[in-house]
Amino acid sequence: MIADQIKAVIRDIPDFPKPGIIFKDITPILKEPKLCEDIVDAFIGQLQGTRVDVVAGVESRGFLFGLTLANKLGVPFVPVRKAGKLPYSVKQKVYELEYGSATIELHTDAFEPGQHVLIHDDLLATGGTVTAASELIHEMGGVVAGYSFVVGLNFLNGKEKITPVSDNIIVLAE
Ligand code: IMP
Repeated sequence: MIADQIKAVIRDIPDFPKPGIIFKDITPILKEPKLCEDIVDAFIGQLQGTRVDVVAGVESRGFLFGLTLANKLGVPFVPVRKAGKLPYSVKQKVYELEYGSATIELHTDAFEPGQHVLIHDDLLATGGTVTAASELIHEMGGVVAGYSFVVGLNFLNGKEKITPVSDNIIVLAE
């Protein structure tokens, strides 16, 4: 099973980036080309029947599989980036973090109004980042087609946070 293969290679890094946090390091996946291919194929299998016009990958690890997924679906990929990184005109969304706030941006021509946008990231934690992305997409006239993640941290209940926007949530390993 793809979930078991993913879990077998990702590793826990204690106290990263701050004391008390156990960080899931997904980079060992990237050293296994066959597993990378299988991950994208698993997403495609689970997206059968879902209209996806555009894949929006969240900075930065959401770019890793997001672009390949979009390429294989034959649809455009657009990067959701932190403030100040995108060169063209942007629309932004400020969202709250545990301490302070963060800002994400999309190019204003990322997609056309009415298009169905799949939000992709490597890992679902609290769901705060992808919720902000979904609000930004909605404000730009897009339809959130669903979400896809390689890994989900169930104990943070991210799925509950994002379900009201779309219950089409793919998590390969949780
Ligand atoms: P959320 O907004 O709390 O769901 O956090 C998700 C974002 O933080 C994603 O962009 C992840 O890449 C990143 N993230 C949070 N925790 C981890 C982790 O343990 N490993 C890798 N990325 C993480």
